Amino acid sequence: MTEKMGTTGLILKEKLLWERGKTGREGFSFPRQDVDQTPMDPEFARDDLDIPDLSEVDVIRHFTRLSTWNFGVDTGMYPLGSCTMKYNPKTNERQASLPGFAGAHPLLPESLSQGALELMYNLERYLAEITGMDAVSLQPAAGAHGELAGMLLIYAYHKSKGNQRHKIIIPDTAHGTNPASAALCGYTPVPVKSNERGVLSTEDIAAVMDDDTAGIMVTNPNTLGLFEENMKEVADIVHAKGGLVYGDGANMNAVMGIIDMKEIGIDVLHLNLHKTFSTPHGGGGPGSGPVCVNKILEPFLPVPRVEKKDGKFRLQYNRPDAIGRLMTFHGHFGIMVRAYSYILSMGPDGLKKASQLAVLNANYIKEKLKDIYHLPFDRPCMHECVFSDKHQSGNKVSTLDIAKRLLDYGFHPPTVYFPLVVSGAIMIEPTETECKDDIDQFIQAMRDIAGEAKENPELLHKSPEKTKVSRLDEAAAARKPCLAG
Ligand SMILES: *Cc1c(COP(=O)(O)O)cnc(C)c1O
Repeated sequence: MTEKMGTTGLILKEKLLWERGKTGREGFSFPRQDVDQTPMDPEFARDDLDIPDLSEVDVIRHFTRLSTWNFGVDTGMYPLGSCTMKYNPKTNERQASLPGFAGAHPLLPESLSQGALELMYNLERYLAEITGMDAVSLQPAAGAHGELAGMLLIYAYHKSKGNQRHKIIIPDTAHGTNPASAALCGYTPVPVKSNERGVLSTEDIAAVMDDDTAGIMVTNPNTLGLFEENMKEVADIVHAKGGLVYGDGANMNAVMGIIDMKEIGIDVLHLNLHKTFSTPHGGGGPGSGPVCVNKILEPFLPVPRVEKKDGKFRLQYNRPDAIGRLMTFHGHFGIMVRAYSYILSMGPDGLKKASQLAVLNANYIKEKLKDIYHLPFDRPCMHECVFSDKHQSGNKVSTLDIAKRLLDYGFHPPTVYFPLVVSGAIMIEPTETECKDDIDQFIQAMRDIAGEAKENPELLHKSPEKTKVSRLDEAAAARKPCLAG
């Protein structure tokens, strides 16, 4: 039997601090008192609070042990498709914590914020260069917020033409936030199905594009991990009827330095700095979803914009056509510092190489697993590949069982049941940082699990068995949560 990475040894039971505490234990020592005692204000000196008495080592061990129960991208592979949970070089964290950046106050005058403004100005230029677009606003706080910005820009554009439109075309392979963002702007989303190759057909777009349609929102690469090969033709159809093309660029990790988004017909695109450009995400931390536009949408970008004049950087508010402000101050600055550091440390060749490796790794996994897992679209993929549980479901083994069993093998499960266009989807995104050894181990785990699904489906229904808690009744956990441990 091959040795598994999964947990086998020290899994310590952890009591609550209240159960661990003993009256009289202390976690501090003060020097002998050499001043007179003053009684404390009774409002503060309460003894009716249920706070456990603990020593320092009790507290340190408790929290250190709890921290080891967490699994993150610093612990192991996190093959989370459609979300680019990639490992980010630690140097970018270090730059973001430099006191001049971390302590910069947004109310400081421009004269004292030249470095921060220069960083924002340069980052906008870099992102324009990487995407091929003309101008950028760093304001949106996350991907979906960038989409909202893009929809507002498209709305402002049509309004300026005196011709407001009411519909937006959204393919079934778009991210779920796309129709929500369109609807928030008052547009009616018009769904379009992808074809048997998992991409858009020009005929389907031509059939729905009309004079009341403001544009189309295309996730590219799409949520099946496939590149929209007819993108230019689709954009031409939309443009010919006066519409604009929105590109959801959250999957940029597949195409950095490879695709010129303007060239393929995109008018406005958002990026997820917290996916592609070195900010860890998940857990609800701050994000950043810059919008990148072509020349015709630039006048509408939100205020303020960072300008360079006579060698000085300043904030420009006087922009009559702007859609207004989307954030307090200038957006999430710490995320911008990480992206800036990432882009500079990688350089143009490094960014391109990262995308090439991300795509290579996903295709390697696809080829190594497609004989045992059903691959709905058997063609080269981008940075993620999508399987389904079709070959295992005959044995009553589902995607959920496979995902849970992966935990026993020491891997974080991939994205499951997304995208919705594939029933029982298993979406795997290894990212560029995983080495061949680790990817091979993951592939072996997936192959072993497929074997178990045939020979011992019961085992999979019970898994995970080696984790801190085994299979949960998820409905009960959601409805009757026990938060006390
Ligand atoms: C993650 C993602 C989004 C949404 O980004 P948030 O920062 O989570 O709002 C939009 N589109 C795609 C394709 C994504 O992967």
